[in-house]
Amino acid sequence: MSYLLLSGATVVGASGRQLTDVLIKDEKIDAIGDLDEYLPESVTRVDCSGKFLLPGGVDVHTHIDSPLMGTTTADDFVSGTVAAATGGTTTLIDFAQQLPGEDLATSLEKHREKAKGKAVVDYGFHMCITNLYSGFESHMGELTQEGVSSFKIFMAYRGSLMVNDGEMYDILRTAGKYGAKLCVHAENGDVIDRMARDLVENGQVGPGNHELARPPATEIEAVERAIRISKMAEVPLYFVHLSTDGAVEAVARAQSEGWPIGAETCTHYLTLDRAIYDQPGFEPAKAVLTPPLRTQRHRDALWRGLNTGALSVVSSDHCPFCFDEKRRLGGDDFRSIPNGGPGVEHRMSVMYGLGVAQNRMTLEKYVEVTALNPAKTFGLHPRKGEITPGADADIIILDPKGTTRISAGTQKQNMDYTLYEGFTLPGSMDAVYSRGELIASNGEYVGKSGRGRFIPRIP
Ligand SMILES: [Zn+2]
Repeated sequence: MSYLLLSGATVVGASGRQLTDVLIKDEKIDAIGDLDEYLPESVTRVDCSGKFLLPGGVDVHTHIDSPLMGTTTADDFVSGTVAAATGGTTTLIDFAQQLPGEDLATSLEKHREKAKGKAVVDYGFHMCITNLYSGFESHMGELTQEGVSSFKIFMAYRGSLMVNDGEMYDILRTAGKYGAKLCVHAENGDVIDRMARDLVENGQVGPGNHELARPPATEIEAVERAIRISKMAEVPLYFVHLSTDGAVEAVARAQSEGWPIGAETCTHYLTLDRAIYDQPGFEPAKAVLTPPLRTQRHRDALWRGLNTGALSVVSSDHCPFCFDEKRRLGGDDFRSIPNGGPGVEHRMSVMYGLGVAQNRMTLEKYVEVTALNPAKTFGLHPRKGEITPGADADIIILDPKGTTRISAGTQKQNMDYTLYEGFTLPGSMDAVYSRGELIASNGEYVGKSGRGRFIPRIP
């Protein structure tokens, strides 16, 4: 048995903070409080005065080692999870993709093999449904029982990933039957495809046109439609990566009518501007991700949505493709640029540095949207997402006086760019513990290889 005492820190939860000690016994949080009288003899002490102790980040939206748009995302489960760990994220839920011609169980098994022995943080999977087949319902039931208790559908990308409205209805009904959660990528894919075609026919083939083919209304319409279908199916759903004011309004309206829609936004929609699409050359391709980056008006609405609770989760949507790979596939036609960008490494730092430190959200809200709510929403709580006795000892020691510098040259993500190049942010992730083990120290990974575990999730 080994004991570790993190002493004198300000421990932060969603409902408040207190100056206290945290005792860790092996992999779990054993006790919190003024513990001096009760300490075992052999305890390792770490002085955390002046620091914040936060629950390790829970990132519920990553695409690691994933086949998408004719290529594969740039991070495997080693680089992707090392990047997560050094940035303060100790649990991931990654998207497993149903592959063409395969059933859900077969595709999940292939993805699971990619993570085994490689991941260094704990992980689970959502299963993307891209093709219905006879018997998909029972597979959804089986996967849910195995702890893969959430699924995802796309309302865009016809011909590869998209399901139609009737299929969405069927999948929702099935998810409801098994107590599984359905994540929805909400964009009107058919209209987007036509807008993109018109741009290309007009000779507008450069990467900045990606934004023009996906105006805010294409997201808002899909969000409103999905909410209506969810009501018809009498099963709630969860929107991934919302980016617009109208989407936040639609979700808030449904919630105020008592319909429990869940919704996330991502680091980049909160913090980055669409101006990158106006840059010359192929530079805009770095932000060819879906939905695209928006204007300040939308960012203001997203921050409001987080602070009022309409949006409850901030994820990274880490879906990395190197700049060269984007050029190789989509240099002549923006429609072929693989859609996605990196983010798992910097979500916690950026949300602290640009959110908490700039007074856009409290530290308590930060804990709520980066750890507690993601864990609760996807069946990981109380094991993950909170510093509380009995939980896994997944803890970040954050120094508010430190700084974090972001650059492609030093990042752990297997990427040749970052959308946060040159950012210097207040706050540093001094130490990251996962199940009681120190896995990252001052931005370097110091844990064992392949130590991450699959965490089955409660439906
Ligand atoms: Zn995604």
